[in-house]
Amino acid sequence: MLEAQLKTPIWCPACNAIYHGSPLAVPDREYNVGYLAHYAQCPDCGTLFQNPMPPFHQLADFYPPNYHAATAHGLLARARHNARLKQLTPLLNGDGALLDYGCGNGAFLTWAATKNLGRPLFGYEIADQREVQKLADGAVTIVRGKPADLLDSLPSCRLITMNHVIEHLPDPHETISALTRFLAPGGAIEGQTPAADSLERRVFKTRWSGYHAPRHTVVFSRAGLHKLFDRVGLNQPAISAAFNPAAIAVSLAACTRSPERPIRRAGLGWLWWLGCATLLAPIDLLSGASGIMNFRAIRQD
Ligand SMILES: [Zn+2]
Repeated sequence: MLEAQLKTPIWCPACNAIYHGSPLAVPDREYNVGYLAHYAQCPDCGTLFQNPMPPFHQLADFYPPNYHAATAHGLLARARHNARLKQLTPLLNGDGALLDYGCGNGAFLTWAATKNLGRPLFGYEIADQREVQKLADGAVTIVRGKPADLLDSLPSCRLITMNHVIEHLPDPHETISALTRFLAPGGAIEGQTPAADSLERRVFKTRWSGYHAPRHTVVFSRAGLHKLFDRVGLNQPAISAAFNPAAIAVSLAACTRSPERPIRRAGLGWLWWLGCATLLAPIDLLSGASGIMNFRAIRQD
């Protein structure tokens, strides 16, 4: 049955070009969740996407309780929040909410609530059941559930931030076009995501951390991300290289083990890989084909 699905023509989720071919199997090298993902590469824009795409209800099975995004805390987390808010501040001119799409436990928003941003702070995280939670004395609203559960209660937004989120969506075009309708004129969508057209992917092949298989559903190339934003009417997104040694550290660690020995993002071993990755990061940044990219797109009308 898998064979039959793999041969069916499909469309690139980024640029809508048609794809025929045999996708590449990529094992889970980080959590060993027991699902072998297959990735197709768009012949037009170079974006990678799972084929078959796992159904929405199956995605939750790919995130074990010790998943790294849920475990950041303490000083390091505060330093990360600070750096992230610094990057967002130039985009926070004018009325409208700040939406953190894929907010996890809402840690960034509850921290941001202490900075008096003078606007509603919303967060969204995927879940089976709809749940609305108020945090930071009501300053932060977290909506869990299906995307429609968020859109029902979302006000006009000045800024929608997606930090390592767009690559987890099964249908990014549908999500980004729905969110764009909530952007105030002059408002922006911004985020960070791995880049399929990277030096790091060429070097590490299926051990490249950007696959993060099977959790990454669509891994954009720079051209693919441009086309996606064009298709939703957000022209000329700005795309730039991002500094993210943790991504390189995962690629390096993946070279030393089989998928049966998952990579632990903690302890001395992890610090060693982070140190090596930090030394290599300038090559990645200066290559013109960084493994991680920042993007921002502004609604003009
Ligand atoms: Zn494409």
